[in-house]
Amino acid sequence: MGIEDTGRLPRILAIGAHPDDCDIKAGGCAILWAKAGCAVRFVSTTNGDAGHHEMSGKELADRRKAEAEAAGRVAEIEYQVLDNRDGQLVPGLEQRWELLRLIREFRPDLILTHRPNDYHPDHRYTSQLVQDCSYLISVPNLCADTPCLETAPVMAYFWDEFNKPLPFKPDVAVDIDSVLDTKMRMLNCHASQFYEWLPWIDRHGIQIPDDPSKRLDALAEFVHGVTRPDDDARDLLKRYYGDGRGCGVINAETFEACEYGAPLNGAAIRRLFPF
Ligand SMILES: [Zn+2]
Repeated sequence: MGIEDTGRLPRILAIGAHPDDCDIKAGGCAILWAKAGCAVRFVSTTNGDAGHHEMSGKELADRRKAEAEAAGRVAEIEYQVLDNRDGQLVPGLEQRWELLRLIREFRPDLILTHRPNDYHPDHRYTSQLVQDCSYLISVPNLCADTPCLETAPVMAYFWDEFNKPLPFKPDVAVDIDSVLDTKMRMLNCHASQFYEWLPWIDRHGIQIPDDPSKRLDALAEFVHGVTRPDDDARDLLKRYYGDGRGCGVINAETFEACEYGAPLNGAAIRRLFPF
């Protein structure tokens, strides 16, 4: 029986490489899913223990886990941080089995992750690991201690800005304007990243003012760079919400189907994005 036929609420598993990746790319949808009563889990495949210029190791991993859990509480979702080291993730068998068991135990209807071509090796290998699991989740001889999934989940990719070999092409666009404030509060939990590390490494155009009262405005500018609908996203927004609302959406989260999962057709979109 497919997800279209069951009538139950979908279970959502977002798998990012670092504690903040899922929040940036799918935080708004997570809030909407949680409000709709869906089970949502964010997973970070690494512990984030390299993402800082003044802290490292266990001290940083502990801080980032606490930040992720705080963000999870804001969105009212689960947040799981795996203990692989930041910048050192490899798509090996040990990591594959860890993820395979995690996916089977959670029993998702939708899995979100990075696309396989990305500047950060942890993002690439997280995507690789999820793709490696896409078929094996149904193979009972592997990780036989954890029952296989009976129904293949839909898989989709987070938005990114990379153009080679192919630019991101959205298949789903979700209006997140109604929950943008809550998404900002999620991201605000990751102070080690948005207010310290990312401005220091200066790779993402985040410039945070010294005045703490102006930080959220600067963060909102960064977020809008991620969630500003392009022409393809605008067409999807108009198709799903009608011309009036679709033309007015300011912030949208977008996802591209991964062909290794179940088909992301119209019926699946209506079931998996019930808002
Ligand atoms: Zn990342």
